[in-house]
Amino acid sequence: MTATGALPRVMIRPRGVGRLRAGHPWVYRSDLDAEPGTPAGLVALADERGRPLGTALYSPHSEIRVRWLAPPDRAVDASWWRAMVSAALARRADIADTGHRVVHAEADGLPSLIVDRYGEFAVAQLLSAGIEAVRDDVIGAVRSVMAPRGLLLRNDPPVREREHLERTTELAFGEVPERAPYSEGGLTLVAQPWTGQKTGAFLDQRENHVRLGTLGSGARCLDLFCYQGGFALHLANGGAREVIAVDSSADALEALRETARSRGIGGITTVEANAFDWMRGAADAGEKFDVIVVDPPAFAKDRRSLARALAAYKELNLRAMQCLTDRGWLFTASCSHHVDRGSFFGMLAEAARDAKQRMQLVEIRGAARCHPELVTVPETGYLKAALLRKLGGSPI
Ligand code: SAH
Repeated sequence: MTATGALPRVMIRPRGVGRLRAGHPWVYRSDLDAEPGTPAGLVALADERGRPLGTALYSPHSEIRVRWLAPPDRAVDASWWRAMVSAALARRADIADTGHRVVHAEADGLPSLIVDRYGEFAVAQLLSAGIEAVRDDVIGAVRSVMAPRGLLLRNDPPVREREHLERTTELAFGEVPERAPYSEGGLTLVAQPWTGQKTGAFLDQRENHVRLGTLGSGARCLDLFCYQGGFALHLANGGAREVIAVDSSADALEALRETARSRGIGGITTVEANAFDWMRGAADAGEKFDVIVVDPPAFAKDRRSLARALAAYKELNLRAMQCLTDRGWLFTASCSHHVDRGSFFGMLAEAARDAKQRMQLVEIRGAARCHPELVTVPETGYLKAALLRKLGGSPI
């Protein structure tokens, strides 16, 4: 008997089996032979000949019906969840920053589960009906492996609707404050687990924040789409002469100013504005910066909006390139799932051409390594980033 003996069985069609064997844990609705007729939760997968394929999460309403977890000989019980969370934590044992991701969903073998750490506190997201059905085991694993003072469930992202799940924010256990301090590089930053974006901060830019800090010394800097100042604070802390931080969210800018005040970091001017308008005005006025960060929200929400999104990225980057001093640095990013690496770098080339600037690609960057990408699951790698430097002179 296999470890999956007592679970409802789901037969997978050959195309779905092929996908699983190619290292992608998702099986779509159309690749199921028949619905098990059971509620969301654990199921035992089999191919059309009845050969076992392992244990998976089942979501009865989602296009992604099945998310594979473990091979047939391994029972998925409380000890399995503890072992998986423990292994994910161990892979990050050398990360000194106390703000980092601990479980990056599919990339850590735990589909639709996010767990982030902010100092003594943990914040999780359960993003499928299947994982919601085993929440007690998940919460138990986080509690026993990470032993945080509290675990908050930020189960409010829109994707939960596709799973017919409520969007809620609730405390699983312990206490989690409105503002949770955490270290990043040499700085103490502040996350807002209950109300902030994502789980309270942009941990995926962790290593990029720190890298930009090394370029700050004596520089005039611009941080476009600054949110709570992940880049601006590191630039200022790194000795920037001046940092202008632009965002449309007054709350985010207030949080930035509060962190700067409490850390004794000066030299940051916050500007509440639409970054497109602000950037156009700066370019028209001939403003110059030694370092510019362009880290916008995801413009491409789906495939249909891709062309418009690329035009928006290009517009921002083109203006930023025009506003760089000779040898100035441009850090630019896109977190749109639908913009692949090729389109991202193609967009940068077009921006440089139209800006009539020669730009060196100095570093290809991406999400911090606590957000790894599983190479067979492209969905786990959404953040493209580049550090460019102006060569100076102009093309013919
Ligand atoms: N750079 C930040 C994360 C940026 S997230 C960090 O590393 O922490 C994207 C930010 O863009 C959000 O703070 C959001 O408020 C802001 N934003 C979205 N649309 C905007 C617009 N048109 N103009 C200015 N800011 C905008």
